[in-house]
Amino acid sequence: MSEHTIVTVLGPQRAGIPLPTPTVLSRPFWEGCAEGELRYQRCTACGRAEFDPNMLCRGCGSDDLEWQVSAGRGTVYSYTEVTRPQTPAFTSPYVVVIVELDEGYHMVSNIVGCTTADVRIGMPVAVEFHEIDGGVVLPYFAPTAGGVNP
Ligand SMILES: [Zn+2]
Repeated sequence: MSEHTIVTVLGPQRAGIPLPTPTVLSRPFWEGCAEGELRYQRCTACGRAEFDPNMLCRGCGSDDLEWQVSAGRGTVYSYTEVTRPQTPAFTSPYVVVIVELDEGYHMVSNIVGCTTADVRIGMPVAVEFHEIDGGVVLPYFAPTAGGVNP
């Protein structure tokens, strides 16, 4: 890294980015985000954690799914740095991450609270909620204490 490199700490996106359009199926998840809860479905027949929201359990096909609240903790399963976003509305770079939640499911999000160089597979992270625009709240993940190597 040259002495002229600017290292920025990743943060949430600003107003103007494309926002989710909740459906009947996903509305409980988005309402949870607005209330500071990371919600997911669990199959009452086989116990499998389901995400993203689905009508049927991907494990056993049961339609008996109930909403539960995740503790919001997990580890980085995979990630990629985006330097050329799909639209100019996004501030780049940003890091897209697949988080493996402690409850046993995966979700796609973005990393905040560290630099792109800090992100590692297996890094422990916790959810943070950020209001972006018009009351829409998005879940992001940040390293937990000890998650970033000095
Ligand atoms: Zn099931």
